[in-house]
Amino acid sequence: MSEFEQNLSRSKEYLARFKDAPLGQFIGGKFYTNDKTFTNLTPVDNSSLGEVSEGTELDMDKACEAAKNAFPAWRDMSGAERKKILHHFADKIVERADEIALVESMDCGQPIRFMKQAAIRGAANFRFFADKAPEAANGLSLHQEDHTNFTVRTPIGPVGIITPWNTPFMLATWKIAPALASGCTIVHKPAEMTPLSAMLMAEIAKDAGIPDGVWNTVNGYGATVGKRLTEHPAIKAVALVGDSATGRRIMRQGADTLKRVHFELGGKNPVIVFDDANFDRALDAVVFMIYSLNGQRCTSSSRLLIQNGIKDKFLTALEKRVSNLKVGHPLDPNTEVGPLAHQEHFNKVMSYMTIAQEDGATTKVGGIHRADLGAGCYVSPTLFTDADTTMRIAQEEIFGPVLTTIGFDTEEDAIAIANDTDYGLSGYIWTENTGRAMRMAKHVESGMLWVNSENNRNLPSPFGGVKSSGIGRDGGDWSFDFYMETKNVCIAHGTHKVPVLGAS
Ligand code: NAD
Repeated sequence: MSEFEQNLSRSKEYLARFKDAPLGQFIGGKFYTNDKTFTNLTPVDNSSLGEVSEGTELDMDKACEAAKNAFPAWRDMSGAERKKILHHFADKIVERADEIALVESMDCGQPIRFMKQAAIRGAANFRFFADKAPEAANGLSLHQEDHTNFTVRTPIGPVGIITPWNTPFMLATWKIAPALASGCTIVHKPAEMTPLSAMLMAEIAKDAGIPDGVWNTVNGYGATVGKRLTEHPAIKAVALVGDSATGRRIMRQGADTLKRVHFELGGKNPVIVFDDANFDRALDAVVFMIYSLNGQRCTSSSRLLIQNGIKDKFLTALEKRVSNLKVGHPLDPNTEVGPLAHQEHFNKVMSYMTIAQEDGATTKVGGIHRADLGAGCYVSPTLFTDADTTMRIAQEEIFGPVLTTIGFDTEEDAIAIANDTDYGLSGYIWTENTGRAMRMAKHVESGMLWVNSENNRNLPSPFGGVKSSGIGRDGGDWSFDFYMETKNVCIAHGTHKVPVLGAS
């Protein structure tokens, strides 16, 4: 049997249970299903993977209450004990890594070559924050002449975690691991389009001994259970990974209860390649950062800004590479680009093929539905050239394997084009000139910049965007700052003069 056939056969075994019984809710340590369900389709061929319970506002209320009731004991548990439990959770992820990877690929269409590592990276996220749990409360010591101040951090309370469908498992671990390590309890609302790996995680939480009510998962729609989560008075903060429009909505929804929010939103990230760049490495990175993960990646470099001196040579090489990408079934180990996550998103991405024509750009490669691959959401990797920054394909997040290229002459031009968008998540600079790299790093408006690299993630480093790409930062201590309150304690040395009133 080929590796592909083995993957298919194991995925059938793992997925069978979802056909037999609807996916349920996990609240207060108990799993249950609702009468009303919706169908979860795989983008591989748009067939059903099974039914999903449609959570109600009442389910969400129960989940928030469960998180509230479980909070005091979890908060008061020692960091060392939380560390042990979270490492145990990571061990269990590793045990079920094969299942997580295959289920995730079939649910969201991401090629198995990338999803294989997703579960392991998810476990690594948990281990990183587990190790930091004992020091989460640490603060500063701030001295005055007659007083000493010290700060201490305490978990903010139950929090809501709302995640999208592009890489559901990995993104959920980024948010949930620091929340639990800091002593918060959570209510997770996964994307309705890709709910399977979130339920595997809930099962692992139960199995790993995370106390009942500390972790709750509610399936259902954003407009109902998602909205309720952001409005619930027991929930003190909401972390969202999703669309910028959803972030705006959640801010409004959470206003009455003064929710603290952390948003990781969309991007239209530039990769800027100068004439003096290392040509081959830049080419590899440009292809990787837009066509991996089906282009459904917030940090994808969806705009290539190419200096006119090497433009023709670079685009010729790029055209060849894009034409050569292997599109196919996500469980085939040779597949580089799988189907887009769901039909609605496929329709959105396909609409930009027409928009590009209307804009006056050239479709150098792709631009078509790969109907030859069956009834799934397959799009051919696409390369638009002759674009300019005013075009919709240069301004709007397409979130697919679609690259828009724009030529430029000078550093100043590159900065102006790079910043001419509502977004500001990440940017990538390719140059051998260190001074220029420093100038670009200063002037490109984004939360993260990589110089001569693709998206290399360092867990202690801050992750997040500016402008419409988000609010706040993830990673290392930044995550603890979000999930915790800082208290200042000011202690007098007993030597200063206390003001005296009413003594005479
Ligand atoms: P989305 O905003 O439509 O959905 C995200 C989640 O929000 C889902 O669980 C959804 O049910 C929920 N939701 C929707 N409306 C809600 C409401 N009114 N109240 C509460 N919850 C609500 O996003 P998507 O289409 O699932 O994901 C794609 C988007 O995510 C892209 O824009 C992408 O750039 C972004 N993304 C950003 C990052 C990042 O780190 N910046 C990472 C991955 C994806």
